[in-house]
Amino acid sequence: MSDLRYSYKNKEVLKGISFKLAKGERLVIVGPNGAGKSTLLKVLIGARKGEGRIVMCDLVVQDEKIFIPIEKRCAAYVPQGSGVFPHKTVLENLRIAGKERDESELVEMARVLGLRELDVKAGKLSGGQKRRLAIAMALVSNKKIILLDEPLGAVDPASRGEIVDVIKEHTRDRGVVWVTHLKDVVERVGGRVCKMEGGKLLDCEEEL
Ligand code: ADP
Ligand code: ADP
Repeated sequence: MSDLRYSYKNKEVLKGISFKLAKGERLVIVGPNGAGKSTLLKVLIGARKGEGRIVMCDLVVQDEKIFIPIEKRCAAYVPQGSGVFPHKTVLENLRIAGKERDESELVEMARVLGLRELDVKAGKLSGGQKRRLAIAMALVSNKKIILLDEPLGAVDPASRGEIVDVIKEHTRDRGVVWVTHLKDVVERVGGRVCKMEGGKLLDCEEEL
């Protein structure tokens, strides 16, 4: 992406952001509340239309003339909110996200992410379980880029490390942009860490 900008009404919250994400690369974005991290992911997935150019998987998805909708972008998104269909069961949610997968793979992904009841409506899950389901949905999708907005915020600290490892395992040949405040998560993810502040992407450290 190059020189990405976004404003809410008159307030510019993304002030010219450029970066490149390689296949298999993990980019961790840290920074204070209000820095624009969530907005950046929303523009990347296509939930918001910003200015600037975005190319994903060799396809221009946004420039002055082009705006490719979410469904046609090669990215999956785990939003900060729940990101699941509340009136559908756990298994139905996974089927929607993982259309190309066998049922056994969906069940296995639910298991490794600690989702035991597959027939319960997603709206009835706890906050942490909803996040696990949203993560499972991104991982069973065939999308080449995974955008994660503080995916482990509602997950108990004791389980976080394990889930980080599951995400890493299933995104080896994908690109990941991972927004988080959690120090333990930043360390365990072990990708390139970039700091965002005031709508700008500041220094990106070398890979840990
Ligand atoms: P972060 O994820 O880094 O905390 P956000 O992207 O959520 O930051 O927010 C960036 C700025 O945009 C903040 O100043 C926030 O108040 C503002 N903002 C976010 N969402 C909206 C919205 N829907 N309408 C107006 N302003 C918003
Ligand atoms: P979503 O990301 O789920 O589409 P938003 O973050 O845009 O939802 O929030 C929905 C509504 O709440 C927006 O219409 C916006 O006006 C308002 N809103 C959300 N965050 C802020 C904020 N930080 N400042 C002002 N308004 C906000």
